Amino acid sequence: MHSILKQATKAASSSHTAAQAGIVIVGGGLAGLAAAVEALQRTQGSGVTVALLEKEARTGGNSAKASSGINGAGTQTQRKLGINDTVAALEADTLRSARGEGSSVLAERLAQDSAGAVEWLQTQFALDLDVVAQLGGHSVARTHRRPDTPDGRPQPVGWGIVSTLAKHLADEPRFRLVAGARVTTLELDGARISGVTYEQDGATQQLDARAVVLATGGFGGGGEWLKRYAPQLEALPATNGAFATGDGLQLATAVGAALVGMERVQVHPTGFVRASEPAAHTKFLAAEALRGAGALLLDARGRRFVDELATRDVVTSAINDACGSPDTRATHAGAEDPGLPAAFLLLSQAAADAFGRGALGFYEKMGLVYSAAGLGALAAALRMPRAALEHSLRAHDEVRNADSVDDFGKRVFPQPALNADAAAPYFWAVVTPSIHYTMGGLRFDEHAHVLRATDGAPIPGLLAAGEVTGGLHGANRLAGNLLLECVVFGREAGRQAAMLALV
Ligand SMILES: Cc1cc2nc3c(=O)[nH]c(=O)nc-3n(C[C@H](O)[C@H](O)[C@H](O)COP(=O)(O)OP(=O)(O)OC[C@H]3O[C@@H](n4cnc5c(N)ncnc54)[C@H](O)[C@@H]3O)c2cc1C
Repeated sequence: MHSILKQATKAASSSHTAAQAGIVIVGGGLAGLAAAVEALQRTQGSGVTVALLEKEARTGGNSAKASSGINGAGTQTQRKLGINDTVAALEADTLRSARGEGSSVLAERLAQDSAGAVEWLQTQFALDLDVVAQLGGHSVARTHRRPDTPDGRPQPVGWGIVSTLAKHLADEPRFRLVAGARVTTLELDGARISGVTYEQDGATQQLDARAVVLATGGFGGGGEWLKRYAPQLEALPATNGAFATGDGLQLATAVGAALVGMERVQVHPTGFVRASEPAAHTKFLAAEALRGAGALLLDARGRRFVDELATRDVVTSAINDACGSPDTRATHAGAEDPGLPAAFLLLSQAAADAFGRGALGFYEKMGLVYSAAGLGALAAALRMPRAALEHSLRAHDEVRNADSVDDFGKRVFPQPALNADAAAPYFWAVVTPSIHYTMGGLRFDEHAHVLRATDGAPIPGLLAAGEVTGGLHGANRLAGNLLLECVVFGREAGRQAAMLALV
């Protein structure tokens, strides 16, 4: 899967020397790649070069793992599908999810630019973001992802976007990618950022720049920042790559940047527990889109306990409360019990079809999702009484058919829970809450300026975008908003950097 990015890395890093950069971007996830594309477009016809420094061997970051999609309100795709949505509704959902701690200025900008961001990917890069789902906390369907290929192969959305942008950049003569380069210091010329110092292959090097964009991602992968701000979560598994250690926070606070919301760490309710390694620290994410397509959550006794489409914090607490004890937590038969709260995730055939059989087949091949033909086989696989299981699924479908609200406040029921054909397969997995996303980060404004701790003014020459920033998502990030944030504020950072470089 990573070969395209590797090729892009080689092609892009071969023909330039580091000393020529006008703009330096630190981090090669979606925020960094979007910033690079925009900076190059805005400096067309000039000699300004853009260097992207990435500490890993390949670009992609956590962005490459994203599987549920990118939000857009009022997109052409929504209109084609007959979905009525507005900028105001996305802004309101974002702020509601943030529990009063989100910035309305940033949320407004995010929502306003959301349709443009999705359409930028669709038109400039020919990305087919034509499947739209309603995910937890959203008032309508607005999370766009890629359909399976006609021959049934899954097209993961994050990977598709970052690999396409990376390929595009590799063809740009004014772009160079410096891979395996860990930025360690932001250089100052008076009060102004004037470049970076980085380590590559054991050597320390310096690179001058008129603007630096920090796009180093979050700190959900572990390390000092997580230990300092969320020590209570240290024992939890994580969906993040180990590279997500908050380096950008270290770099920017050393030059006076303000931090915001650092205690706010999002635990995703559904990291897959693999039967072959139930205690593994890194969990493959069970995409939000599974529940968006109609997947249900059950405790070990076969009972539902939450609106599966509630926000992540609500679903996580419900799993912790309902599936925490040895007799209520879901486990794999014959496998070690890691002792973590865990639920069964269950899809009917209709929910599986809505999610995409290609993507589901990928999970099955990875040993994360299993199937059982008919209710009897399913109850046996989950080691629960068939009657209890059937009762839960039937009760769900009755409320769905009555177009009503269930005991957990659920009012959107994407698909029936019971299969019409008694012999048809059900699909199931064991899922556990896992550290997923860090809401806190560098305080920034709607023009991607990093703000100073002492007086709130922009630090001259320093921009930031993506998960390294904080303040937008408050106490809880809405699903699909981060890929969107990476595009909206990544492009804005690129635009601002271009202006600085052209002066
Ligand atoms: C499993 C998973 C699924 C997700 N699914 C979705 C989804 O469907 N929709 C959605 O909106 N969000 C999703 N998210 C969240 C979203 O993908 C991330 O928050 C977002 O992609 C972060 O993008 P970024 O560009 O800020 O950082 P990243 O993509 O993490 O990139 C940061 C890069 O910076 C590099 N870096 C760090 N420090 C340095 C340094 N000192 N020097 C040089 N390079 C450095 C890292 O190696 C990394 O490559 C998901 C997250 C995960 C983990």
